[in-house]
Order: sequence, then structure tokens, then C-alpha cells
Amino acid sequence: MAYQVLARKYRPQRFADVAGQEHVTRTLLNALEQGRIAHGYIFSGHRGIGKTTIARILAMALNCRTAVGTKERPDQEPCGVCDSCAEIRAGNSVDVLEIDAATNRGIDEVRELREAARYRPARDRYKIWILDEAHQITDAAFNALLKTLEEPPEHVIFMMATTQPEDIPQTIRSRCQHFSFHAVKFDDILAQLRSIAEQEQIDAEDAALALLAEAGDGSMRDALSIMDQAIASAPIKGGKPHLEPEQIRELMGSVPNTVFERLMEQIGAGQTAAVVEELNTLLNAGNSPAALARQFVRYLRNTLMARVGGENTDLLQISADERARAARSALLFSEEDLTRFLQVMLRTFDDLNYRQEQRFHLELGLVKLVHLQRLLPVEELLSVVQIQATGDRAQGAGQGAGDRLHGTGFGPRVPVTGQVRATSPAAPKPSPFEADRNRKAMGESGSAEPAARVLPAAESVGRAAAEGKPSFQAMAPGPEAKPPVTVGLAETVSEATEGALALAPDAPPDLDRIRDAVSAALAHEGHETAANLIHQAAWTQQGNAIQVELAVRKPMLALTVNAEAEAICRKTMRAMGATQKIAFVPGENGTSGAKAGPGKAESGKEGPAIAGSAQSAAMENPLVKKTQELFNADIRSVLDLRDTN
Ligand SMILES: [Zn+2]
Repeated sequence: MAYQVLARKYRPQRFADVAGQEHVTRTLLNALEQGRIAHGYIFSGHRGIGKTTIARILAMALNCRTAVGTKERPDQEPCGVCDSCAEIRAGNSVDVLEIDAATNRGIDEVRELREAARYRPARDRYKIWILDEAHQITDAAFNALLKTLEEPPEHVIFMMATTQPEDIPQTIRSRCQHFSFHAVKFDDILAQLRSIAEQEQIDAEDAALALLAEAGDGSMRDALSIMDQAIASAPIKGGKPHLEPEQIRELMGSVPNTVFERLMEQIGAGQTAAVVEELNTLLNAGNSPAALARQFVRYLRNTLMARVGGENTDLLQISADERARAARSALLFSEEDLTRFLQVMLRTFDDLNYRQEQRFHLELGLVKLVHLQRLLPVEELLSVVQIQATGDRAQGAGQGAGDRLHGTGFGPRVPVTGQVRATSPAAPKPSPFEADRNRKAMGESGSAEPAARVLPAAESVGRAAAEGKPSFQAMAPGPEAKPPVTVGLAETVSEATEGALALAPDAPPDLDRIRDAVSAALAHEGHETAANLIHQAAWTQQGNAIQVELAVRKPMLALTVNAEAEAICRKTMRAMGATQKIAFVPGENGTSGAKAGPGKAESGKEGPAIAGSAQSAAMENPLVKKTQELFNADIRSVLDLRDTN
């Protein structure tokens, strides 16, 4: 007897034998019991999960010549032995016609349906058409079908099997009963494979069958088709084909998942070199980049599901061992990490399909994963912004109130937060550069001592600092400090210290004193805006000139620090005995480094914003300010969603 593929040989002949579609078979058996037979059925779902199988069983049950309740046919299941059942099973029944709509011939036949439907069945009760791949039927053919469905002759039944029910016209769908098939569960497929292996006298290791069931990915037919190949290529041991996992993996061009578990560990530990070497070994062993990427995508997906739903979630249709493995990998990462990993690898997998240098793309994808963990989740970033903005607001408010109350312009600032600034007169005068750094440090972290600020935070700041990332990333929480990180930070710190020492001459120009005096004089003369801006500006000594970089754009600079204000500044400096020239410059993009955000009381007057308008309110908002500063962003438009009544 010719070899028959397993999927056909073991095709279920009774509703009860169909795995994983109980919701469909139960309903159909009930309908048969009650004699409520529709003229149109749509069976939808992935390939190889039993749609046409159930259509055939239903056709058999409808046309079975054995009466229900007899010994041969105790219930609504078809008897399987009468002429009708035998013919339908063999595919040569005159009253049950299977049409593959994917071929042109099928479409022609659909057009002829209307004609044929007028005639009564040759022998059996119903004339049944099973239309496979029904979504491929042309519009013209659907029209012919529709006319028949609108006024169906008593004896006519259509069964449409499709993977894309949405492609079937609504007019057809609304006249049919629609059954949506489920993907077959891993355990159901595995049980079926076991049973078949036993019947076929095959010596199969359970791990091998599990691999086949996994490869089926919810499709019984796919699993059986791979099993066919596996049996064909299996070594014979003791007179029986022997299925073992290594052989199955070789057949499918896959690698054991231990490889991916290891990769995840290396990614988690930030070991870029190890990741790339691991990949190199795999590729040198002859594995294709696309196959590896596909398998890794699956692994990541399972890991994410284990993370989200736990090891025993139904979302994991894999063996118990693999569940445990996915759960172990999931422990290493957050849900967000895994989501991003999956996203990156899916894109990498897509890229591989139409790129020349597949290897490079896969390498790039994996290296990205190592680095991805360093990115902050948006929520965390926002919370950082919020915390900082709140701090600024408290500080700014205290400052402003104090200034106004005492009318002294800018005396020693003791913010309401109670922190004593390093620039207060009581503290020993640091070099101007150190002072500047202190102020920046204040603005960002609200801590008084610069050294004390940097060093304890070393572990978390490390990575960002080493990479020269913006300071907000310094707040990135990360796995425990890693060796290269500490080195990077140490360099940064010593550089800063040396820089400050080297640049500070014997008699450093007392920029802070000049700053305070000039600001106070301006405030006294009614130039409040200029006073504020100048006090918040970045003051730097350049040769015998002082450069004051203000947090405004050029047009605004000319308006705020006008000729009169400049004159007041020079006069004040002369009175102090300061001989330096002073130059006011606009900040880059309207900001001057870290000075832009905190206490930028006048920033609301930048641009066209009108006091009290939504735009000015938005620009005044500390959260907005901080966000602008972090991302160096412009406000393009403001939508006023406030209640205007
Ligand atoms: Zn029968």
C-alpha cells in the first residue's frame, strides 16, 4: 500500500476525535440533535487546525445513511461505515463536492454552483459544497453564491473553510453560521503525536515529540507534516525508527533553546562581547541568521509571556521544560525591557528578509538588546522630570519671595528648602568654575556639596557619566555598578577637579560678587527682568573679559539687557574696581546650559506669549520647563483645554 501522510492517515472521522475544537463540535452535535441545519457555514481559523476535517465530518453526519439510535450509530456522530460515509471519506461522493477555491478551476466551479444547486442530490439527503480557501473566491463567484444563499433550496448546504473570514463579503457572512476555530493547544498536539507514534510503532523520545508539537505552532497538520519528515530521516534502532531531539533540530535548522537562555543571560549582564561571540559560534556552525532570528523572536515572545502571565500561563504553548526556561530568562528583565527586545528582534527579523548582509543585521540587533536596557522607560523619565520640576518650583518660589520682600535684589540665597548653597558668603569661596558647577549641581539635584553629590551617586550615575550622556540619564536605575563604570566616573571627576585648578588664576576674578552686585544694581534701577536673567546666566571668565550667557535668544537679549542696563552693569563694575570687560551673549537655543530651567522667572515673556494666556501658563509650568530643558525642546503650539467659563 502506498505511503499515506500521517495527517491524512490519522484524519479524525468523528467529531469526538477532533483535537482542540470542542466549542465547535459540541455546537454542531447539538444542532444535528435538534435538526437545526443552516444552509451556509463558515469555518475560520489558522491552517491545519481541522476546518475541512470538521466540514467533512459534518457532511458525513448530515448524509449518513445509518439511522441515529441504532447499534452502528448510537448518536449524531456519523457511522463511518455506510456507503455515504465511505464515499465522503474517500472524496468521491457525488453529493458532497470539495472545491479548492485557491485554483481557477475552483472558481469556475463556484460559478456553476447555481445551476447545479437546482438539481436534487443524486442519492443522499443534502447536496453539500465544501469550499476550501473560500476567501479566494472572486466577486463574480461570490455573487453567484449569494443568489443561491438568498433563497436556498432545501437540500443545499455550503461549507466555507477560510483563514481570512474578513475577506468574505458581509452579505455572504450574514447568511451563514460562523465558527471560529482555535489554535490547537500544545498538549493536544503532543498527545496526538504520542498516540500516532505508538500506532506507527515508532520509538520517539518525548522531548523530540515536544519539539515537533512546538514546531506545529497550533497547527496539527504542520506538526504531523514535520513528523512525517522526521520519521523519514530517523535512524533505525532495534528495527524501529527512533526520534530524538537533536535529529529534529537538525531537520528544522534550529538550535537548542539553551543557546537563547545563555544569550539572555549575557544580554542581562551587559556582556556585548560574549553575545557577539556566541552568535559567531552559531553562525560558524552553519546556522542561518534568519532561522536564528526567527527562533530568538519566539524565545523572546515566550519569555515576555512568562513575565506577563507567569510560567503556567495558557499563552505558553510549549513543554514544561521550556516554560521553566522562559520563566528563568524572564526573571532577568522587566516587562518593558522584554517588550523592547521583542520589538527590536521582530524588526531585525524583518530586515533580514530583504538585506544583503544578514549577519551584520543580526549582530546589530543583538548588540542593540545589550544597550537597550540602559534606556529609561518613559514613565520613569517623566517622574524624574516631575521630581526635579517640583524641586525647582520650591526653590524658585522661595527665592523670588525673598528677593521681593527684602528688596535687596540678590542677597545670599537661602531657599525655602532649607539648603545652604555653596555660594553663600559663609562658605569659603570656591573658584568661579567650581561655583558654576555647584550651581548646576544645585539646579539638578538640589544637593549642597558638589563632591558629596557626585560620589555617593556613583553607582547609578556611572554609566551615563562614562558615556557623557545628559545628566538626567544619570538618574537611570541600573543593575549594580559595573567595573568600567567606576573607572569612567573617576576620570570624569578628576578631570573636573584638575580643570578647575588649572583654570583658576592666583587672583580669580570674583564673578559671583560682580554677579550679585550687578544684579542688585539692575533690580534697584527697575531692570527686574535683566537683573533676573543676568543673575541666572552662565558667567565665565575669558581672558580679561567676562562672558555672560543669558537664557534668551538674541532678539530678546537686546530688549532685556538694553543699552541702559549695560551701562548700569559697567558703572557697577567700575565702582567695585573690576577692570574686566563684560559681554552679554544669547544662550544657545535660548538656553544657557543648566541655567535655563531653574527660577527662569522671565522665560514666560519670551516669544509671543501673553501674560495669563494658555501659552504663558504652559511655559511657566515647571514640568514643561524641565521637560524643555531635558529634551532641549521648543514649544510649537499650546492647546488651551482649560474651562473658559
Ligand atoms: Zn454513515
